[in-house]
Amino acid sequence: RCYRYAFLLMVLCLLHTEPNLRIFVSFFAVNLRSGAEQKVVFITARVHPGETPSSFVCQGIIDFLVSQHPIAKVLRDHLVFKIAPMLNPDGVYLGNYRCSLMGFDLNRHWLDPSPWAHPTLHGIKQLIVQMYNNPKISLEFYIDIHAHSTMMNGFMYGNIFEEEERFQRQAIFPKLLCQNAEDFSFSSTSFNRDVVKAGTGRRFLGGLLDHTSYCYTLEVSFYSYVLGGTTSTVPYTEEACILYKSILPFECT
Ligand SMILES: [Zn+2]
Repeated sequence: RCYRYAFLLMVLCLLHTEPNLRIFVSFFAVNLRSGAEQKVVFITARVHPGETPSSFVCQGIIDFLVSQHPIAKVLRDHLVFKIAPMLNPDGVYLGNYRCSLMGFDLNRHWLDPSPWAHPTLHGIKQLIVQMYNNPKISLEFYIDIHAHSTMMNGFMYGNIFEEEERFQRQAIFPKLLCQNAEDFSFSSTSFNRDVVKAGTGRRFLGGLLDHTSYCYTLEVSFYSYVLGGTTSTVPYTEEACILYKSILPFECT
């Protein structure tokens, strides 16, 4: 893995939350052809520190993107992937379940993050807004990876838009996932605009980005998935860290 990562452009942002706790957040930018408009896929994970499967999924995505799989090569040729694998590193360090060091649920503060109280969120939001304002960059896709403590399978939350056509287009990606990944459930996928979710990454970016962009929360069960058409459950294990096997078809080491 270390060798693979040597091919990545890594920018380390040093953050200070307390004198003895220094935290690194990494951004991986993979690819691309010089001169072309950058079509960016932005992925964030582990904003909720107790949701460990979020990190396994994110690791699987990174492993696939830097692999020699032909689909990964095509993706690298056409897209830039920016990945913030751990939005709440201080919460993870401290063993918190939901909150940051200062007791905030960061996934409720996207609308107005403070550089003092929510430094990782503030930094990521600045980066996203900069990209949004850059005419040479098209932010096409945003996925925030979480884990769910009561639901089975993988599934998504998406946004509701007034524009019917945009709303229908948002449903295409989770439908495709459902057709290609045995553990992904479209029936558990839902679209909402609850007031209580207004401060989430998916809702904030859904309101910021234009109608050609797609924003989702990807959830994966803490436990297991039910095979379609059966009552059999298959546990998610660390060894099975490539959760979407049929679309990420290579060995996990
Ligand atoms: Zn979560």
